[in-house]
Amino acid sequence: MTKKTSPHLRPETLLVRGGLSRTGFHETSEALFLNSGYVYDTAAEAEASFDGTLERYVYSRFRNPTLSVFEERLAALEGAPVGKAVASGMAAVTSALLSLVRAGDRVVVGRELFGSCTWVACDLLPRYGVEVAVVAADDLAGWEAALSRPTRAVFFETPSNPTLRLVDLQAVADLAHAAGAVVIVDNAVASPIVQQPLAHGADVVIHSATKWIDGQGRCLGGAILCSEAFNEEYLGPFLRHTGPCLSPFNAWVFLKGLETLGLRLARHASTAQRLAELAEAHPATAAVHYPGLASHPQHALAQKQMTSGGGLLALNLAGGKEAAYRFLNALRVVDISNNLGDAKSLACHPWTTTHQRLTVEEKETQGITEGLLRLSVGLEDPEDLAEDLTRALDAAAS
Ligand SMILES: *Cc1c(COP(=O)(O)O)cnc(C)c1O
Repeated sequence: MTKKTSPHLRPETLLVRGGLSRTGFHETSEALFLNSGYVYDTAAEAEASFDGTLERYVYSRFRNPTLSVFEERLAALEGAPVGKAVASGMAAVTSALLSLVRAGDRVVVGRELFGSCTWVACDLLPRYGVEVAVVAADDLAGWEAALSRPTRAVFFETPSNPTLRLVDLQAVADLAHAAGAVVIVDNAVASPIVQQPLAHGADVVIHSATKWIDGQGRCLGGAILCSEAFNEEYLGPFLRHTGPCLSPFNAWVFLKGLETLGLRLARHASTAQRLAELAEAHPATAAVHYPGLASHPQHALAQKQMTSGGGLLALNLAGGKEAAYRFLNALRVVDISNNLGDAKSLACHPWTTTHQRLTVEEKETQGITEGLLRLSVGLEDPEDLAEDLTRALDAAAS
């Protein structure tokens, strides 16, 4: 493998060239290493590979050359010393938390979490003797109160899915560090282009690569970006021995996804901004949640910690569930789907799908109403999407 040492490069260049490592065949595109094992020229070389005197690939559960390129590229983008790729976003969340905490620890989490993240934090961790406190994303006084006691880890997502509430990254990181906590941020909704939590005080960043990084709805995957110390002490041994490793094929697909991430996110976000403004002006909506709108209660914070509003928005229809169903059934371009971060625009009704299992009270405190729709804005012609949205909003109002 040959590698050029790079000068300081900007994000759009890192997306194409970060971590690039070529074999003796001098291929242009990144090579795909679909192998689980490796061979040794001599018995002594095998021994040296296992006692650590020789640094090389020994087994793809530990490391694989295609994964290494993906990990280095994403780490460079997020400004992290180490990147570790895993099989899904949930494998990333679970590994980061379980590798760090132990019985008797206290963890503080954001209330607005992806459903499976709530399960890991609030159902799984307590089984192992971990105390978990929950704070509303945008309640800074609540974070301050919760972090007035020694805490092992803080975990939250910003912006939150589906209501796009923000956590003040720097303010909560400062409080968390004073409480002795490691700050773990789920950056899947924003993407590494829209937000870089490490630059705002976070210690560990989580991605579901399934979303914007793949960007075309093909592969599941995830990643954890962290310091050398976090990897050596906690994450590395956990991943090596429990084995939530990513397929090299998926890593190769994500590498191709990263190459166009900047271009795609610019388009996702500019179209989302336009659709959010269109929806806000339509009589069928009671509220539109999008960090790029001046009406967003945390718009100033969004401008501080995000480079754009991103590709996800939510509409609260005045007519409740019936209006939401008329909206979804009137769409001719946008698909009804619970996924997000795809080239295809996707819409879903969280009350009856992704968040169906929450109690009515839990839904209401998170701002998930019967009239709420989540829209993941795709790469279609913005004009066609604007027409489709208007058609659906007119149907909702009828
Ligand atoms: C999708 C998602 C996850 C889980 O990722 P998978 O790749 O589906 O396991 C975690 N957090 C957020 C915010 C997500 O959107």
